[in-house]
Amino acid sequence: MSEAVLRIEKLNRSFGALRATRDVTIDLMPGEIHALIGPNGAGKSTLIAQIAGTLRPDSGDIVLGGEVLTQLSVAERARRGLGRSFQISSLAEELSVKRNVMIAIQALQGSSFRFWTPVQTDPRLVNPALEALDRMGLKARADTPVAELSHGERRQVEMACALALKPKALLLDEPMAGLGLEGSSMLTVLLESLKEEVPILLIEHDMDAVFRLADRISVLVAGGVIAQGNAESIRNNPQVREAYLGDESCSA
Ligand code: ADP
Ligand code: MG
Repeated sequence: MSEAVLRIEKLNRSFGALRATRDVTIDLMPGEIHALIGPNGAGKSTLIAQIAGTLRPDSGDIVLGGEVLTQLSVAERARRGLGRSFQISSLAEELSVKRNVMIAIQALQGSSFRFWTPVQTDPRLVNPALEALDRMGLKARADTPVAELSHGERRQVEMACALALKPKALLLDEPMAGLGLEGSSMLTVLLESLKEEVPILLIEHDMDAVFRLADRISVLVAGGVIAQGNAESIRNNPQVREAYLGDESCSA
């Protein structure tokens, strides 16, 4: 039996009397896309914030590759291999695709790049940037300013930024948002080809994408996980239907 890459262990977080996260335990296994779904107010954002490191849990742990991350900062978590998709707004429009990925790498590796090599040509930045762009099918666009990219291509750049840091696990918060049909089917193919390399914890509102992509799904309601299983078992789970999905969205 293989070990979980990322383990969320009995996580709890309250805001006053409200238990926004209650005893949440989720395992992200090698090679899988694990989707986290739940209605508005279920506690998804609160949970993600605790995994990413912007919000401290009251109790419980975040464990990556056997290492406890719970008390570490966002940047320290990233350096230890917790990958996140970058926000579109963090891309510098006038700079090339390649430079944007290099900046993302530099931002996280910080101090080791303070020395004498001109940053633009430093192979420790250029090589992983080009490799990640190649992996995302964007190498031909490496020298194009981000301003000229389509929505879908921007999402690819964001993914490349995350990948260039060689994460052990990837946290993706609504990667399909704002993408048209073409963009989201392109991203679906990419995520499917990526998961063997790096398992993905996916928070996504697009239920079609979730059911298509996820190897396993955890359903969050009122802060707690009410069901975990493959797409089929979640689709047919009466508790899930009642609490969240509604018969209509399950019938697809
Ligand atoms: P979701 O992302 O699934 O829609 P959230 O994690 O945003 O859910 O919210 C879960 C619950 O926690 C909601 O009831 C929300 O009002 C509450 N909540 C979230 N953040 C805070 C906060 N900083 N202070 C107080 N209550 C909060
Ligand atoms: Mg939210």
